[in-house]
Amino acid sequence: MKLFSTNNPNNIVDLKEAVLNAFPVDKGLYMPVKIPRLPKSFYESIQERSFNENAFIVCQALMGDYIPMPELESILLKAFDFPSPIVQLDDHLSCLELFHGPSMAFKDFGARFMAALMAYFLRNEDQKTTILVATSGDTGGAVAAGFYETEGIEVIILYPKGKVSDLQEKQLTTWGKNIRAVEIDGVFDDCQNLVKTAFLDKDLHNKYQFSSANSINIARLIPQSFYYHDAYKQLQDQGDLCFAVPSGNFGNLCAGLIAKKMGLPIHSFIAATNKNKIVPDYLKTGEFVPKDSMQTISNAMDVGNPSNFTRIMSLYGSTWNDVKQDVRGFHSTDQETLAAIAEIKEKYAYIADPHGAIGYLACKEAFQKEKRHYVFLETAHPGKFQDVVEEAINEPITLPTRLADFLDQTKSAYSSNKDYVSFKSLLMDL
Ligand SMILES: *Cc1c(COP(=O)(O)O)cnc(C)c1O
Repeated sequence: MKLFSTNNPNNIVDLKEAVLNAFPVDKGLYMPVKIPRLPKSFYESIQERSFNENAFIVCQALMGDYIPMPELESILLKAFDFPSPIVQLDDHLSCLELFHGPSMAFKDFGARFMAALMAYFLRNEDQKTTILVATSGDTGGAVAAGFYETEGIEVIILYPKGKVSDLQEKQLTTWGKNIRAVEIDGVFDDCQNLVKTAFLDKDLHNKYQFSSANSINIARLIPQSFYYHDAYKQLQDQGDLCFAVPSGNFGNLCAGLIAKKMGLPIHSFIAATNKNKIVPDYLKTGEFVPKDSMQTISNAMDVGNPSNFTRIMSLYGSTWNDVKQDVRGFHSTDQETLAAIAEIKEKYAYIADPHGAIGYLACKEAFQKEKRHYVFLETAHPGKFQDVVEEAINEPITLPTRLADFLDQTKSAYSSNKDYVSFKSLLMDL
């Protein structure tokens, strides 16, 4: 499988290189050279196959015989041992629950697949690889869970101090063994910038053999296309589907667009954001203007310069009119999000998390304009945002044991300022 850099179509690498060394030197992002189309018969018979069997076919179309069949099967088997159920709320509204993995957020799909794929690529290497990753909340927890005790792979997670929930912090800082966390006195974008700079730093690279686990890694993106297929399978009799995707770095949406490009017969997408509405603004005006990120109650989407935007541009040849055919924009405020959580509970007896709730509002608005079946992605378990959800519905919710267990553990993290010099000296001394 060949991939090119979005900043230079002549910079071509194979899948192993793109997965283990996710940042091209030209600072673009890797994209498949060819996005193959699957035959109609695949979609017509999609019901007959399991999640993993369909994922296998999608992977093989993308990767060819790059990974031998039995190995690919076992990577998928290792990665996906949890479901992605559709909960149908009424005749024209469903929610796709993506929080049944180990960290209870959708990022488990990408992290587990990437961990299994990397372990496969590194199976014969002597030198350890270090995953360096910035998180705005959920990425780090999923990556930690995905890589915990993976032989030959260390993980260093950067997170913005005081900007993740208590539970999210515990999901980053209580693992030990091959997982370490660094709290950065700054915002998520500072963490992301430190990671980007560290990757291009020869001293650090020699010491650590860095690899990335952010949503920029193509190994995170590919598996995120699988659950769109699985959602389609579950809702095949509902007519044209439109997916509302709560978005931050836009990996999730980009994966959906790739699935559509491969032939998945779905109608369109809604890019649903909080007030960090860089992409909805782009869809409205044609201008992409990154800004500093602002803090909200849907903090996994507090991103001011969405990294996967460049991939979406490359999918559509940077043509605004073509993007607008497939993607509509939507954004909402914290007040609207809180009210939505209450409304979903009242109308459907369903408890949504703040990210999913923005997806819900996007569906509701779109349905007024155009009748079809809408699906919002529930990207995290509501228990991960317990305070916000309890405030919204004005009653306590019970945490699943998988989450409650984290709260009993003791935090262990390094700290650093957001300037690169301090960060580098910490990493050189670790
Ligand atoms: C990461 C995350 C998002 C945003 O996903 P992107 O792929 O970065 O757009 C939305 N909701 C939750 C709960 C997340 O953890």
